[in-house]
Amino acid sequence: MSDPEIEIPGSPVVPQMLEGSHRIRFSCHKGISCWNACCSNIDISLTPYDIVRLKQRLGITSTEFLRDYTVPYELEKDGIAGVKFKPVDGGTACRFMKPEGCDVYADRPTACRYYPVALLSMRKEDEYVDRDSYALVEEEHCLGHQVDRTLTIDEYRMEQGLLEYDDLARGWRQLILKKKSSGPAIGKPSLKSRQLFFMACYDIDTFRLFVSSEAFGKLFTLSADEKEKILGDDVELMLFAFRFLKQVLFGEKSIELDEETAQERLERWRERQAEIEKEAAEQRARMEDEMWRQEGDGE
Ligand code: SF4
Ligand code: SF4
Repeated sequence: MSDPEIEIPGSPVVPQMLEGSHRIRFSCHKGISCWNACCSNIDISLTPYDIVRLKQRLGITSTEFLRDYTVPYELEKDGIAGVKFKPVDGGTACRFMKPEGCDVYADRPTACRYYPVALLSMRKEDEYVDRDSYALVEEEHCLGHQVDRTLTIDEYRMEQGLLEYDDLARGWRQLILKKKSSGPAIGKPSLKSRQLFFMACYDIDTFRLFVSSEAFGKLFTLSADEKEKILGDDVELMLFAFRFLKQVLFGEKSIELDEETAQERLERWRERQAEIEKEAAEQRARMEDEMWRQEGDGE
């Protein structure tokens, strides 16, 4: 256990960062009198892997899933989009809550699996590895904390099937941490970067069309085998999306580029930048002329 965090008044989060070896007292089971209380008032962020599991479970595309079951939100100030569950119309309950329990239990999202533990991923300024630690959420309505069963957070994560979920969300969490640690020096990403991040992380079926496009194939040289593996499997495609974003947003090159096409694109980009600068200079000159003219008229 490490130093206590700053306490937030009224927050159900116990203000301590906990290690996986920390023991918690908790059990949730059918028949407990608070059954479904936690699913009646939701605020659940989804990881890219949560979306893949749920859209496969529902037999719909990621585009349909995002439209019908989620709302976007700003995960990080200045530019990283996140996705949350949309509650039932006019209410706060989860769309998958049924009297007998969760209707998508085997594919429930990471946040539902973790509850009442919260995952805190972080990177210290002087470190290159991401560290996971945890916090405990103790809400009054949740009676699971009163049940006499203790286990470590690591055991709880195992029981809830979280090893796979965390493993497959690691690339996405690293992207968010990279953006956070790059700070204001990098500035707000362009609209195009933000759209790319959203599509690649959350709308995997649209990303598949993007990767299949002629323009993508011209710029990135993927072998036929690699392409088949990526395009034929949502999870492989999602992992590729994280690599792709690390390359285009942070310059971490892991996908081979066609140098000729990349050079052509760079030239086009430079020409366009020069045009923009020229247009801006002309605009400034016109405004200055106008100011001189107005001052001259006023004399
Ligand atoms: S997905 Fe299932 S566990 Fe999660 S909030 Fe909805 S009903 Fe509850
Ligand atoms: S014990 Fe907690 S997690 Fe389980 S149903 Fe009750 S409120 Fe939800």
